Amino acid sequence: RHHAYDVVVIGAGAAGLMAAAVAGSRGRRVLVLDHNDQPGRKILISGGGRCNFTNRTVTPANYLSANPHFATSALKRFGAADFLALVKEHRIAWHEREHGQLFCDTSAQLILDMLLRQCGAASVEIRTNCRIGAVTGEGPFEVATGHATVTAKSLIVATGGLSIPKIGATGFAHGLAKRYDLGVTPLAPALAPLTFSEPDSGLMRDLAGISLDAEVAFGKTRFREAVLFTHRGLSGPAILQISSYWKPGQPIGINLLPGVDAQERLLERKAARPNALVETIAAELLPARLARALTERAGLTGKPIGQTQNAALGKLAALLGTWSPVPAGTEGYRVAEATLGGVDTNQLSSKTMASKRLPDLYFIGEAVDVTGWLGGYNFQWAWSSGWVAGQSV
Ligand code: FAD
Repeated sequence: RHHAYDVVVIGAGAAGLMAAAVAGSRGRRVLVLDHNDQPGRKILISGGGRCNFTNRTVTPANYLSANPHFATSALKRFGAADFLALVKEHRIAWHEREHGQLFCDTSAQLILDMLLRQCGAASVEIRTNCRIGAVTGEGPFEVATGHATVTAKSLIVATGGLSIPKIGATGFAHGLAKRYDLGVTPLAPALAPLTFSEPDSGLMRDLAGISLDAEVAFGKTRFREAVLFTHRGLSGPAILQISSYWKPGQPIGINLLPGVDAQERLLERKAARPNALVETIAAELLPARLARALTERAGLTGKPIGQTQNAALGKLAALLGTWSPVPAGTEGYRVAEATLGGVDTNQLSSKTMASKRLPDLYFIGEAVDVTGWLGGYNFQWAWSSGWVAGQSV
């Protein structure tokens, strides 16, 4: 067995497998190492098992990073259309859902199989169940593993973020980056459900299971998608999206009646049906359980709307249109779909993902401070950053 490689990739996930296949296809001798017993475990659980592998429209604006322009170059060189072309070439059946999200028709396994087939065709060696020890050198690198020490001219670090430790996520990339004097921006769970304290948490618990179309905002950022009440607080795509932008201690804005002026609508109903109870009117606008809970919160239960002061209706309108609960936190890395922050992009080349100081050391995928929206953007970043690194090594 050869112990000297042109390229060692640490992490057999989305980004690492893409980089390995591309480097291998360019004639590089490539070894991929992973501590899990199988490659691509996160791909397999992604998108509810169907893998939302990219999005019809991907722009740098769909990513959070301390440097909002960093992703531009890689996304341009290997974009959504390029990945889709691969999917088509491998005859994987796919479909488009709302917001331009592209999914496999049957199983995420097909995306993993495609990457493994490409690695196989490029003679990439993949070693799983591999514990990574010390990494030394500045190019060439020596990587100590449980079995042996391997050497590589180039090292690609593709171990991802901290989300879902149960399937093998670790802070390996961040630790290694620091040891090589690269910065790591603050890390936090992204695309995670939000938790709340009383009295909001009690209200949300009572409403667990209700889902509705809403607009959720933090500062100038807004998402209009489903919001789901849960036993722990709020979830659903709109909440996951805003969780990536939310800052602790600050409220989020929730408009439960997007596109409707709640105050105007209540006053209109007051004039039309003065004898109807406030909660009955509210239930014309929202799921009944939610309508009742919010009417109660506004202290208007059991009152005919005609006998309710406009100022009091304003309080209900505010809950409907500009509810601003303060999250207590997120549900954390246990369930977060991504990790905010990562290896500081200022120290990486946006064209190749190599360290500016050590041009044979690469960081790709979620390990880097580039975090996508929900909707296929995180995989596209993994493919794009992996592809450019694979072209460069
Ligand atoms: P990963 O795919 O996480 O791969 C990292 C690899 O490194 C893993 O194989 C891991 O075992 C290995 N590794 C980690 N630490 C070590 C170590 N110390 N030693 C050796 N090996 C190590 N994104 C989308 O775009 N669409 C989706 O549908 C989608 N669904 C998701 C669903 C869930 C439940 C989750 C958690 C995430 C989802 N994501 C989705 C996000 C997406 O999966 C990740 O952004 C993407 O996998 C990141 O790719 P990566 O290669 O950087 O990291």
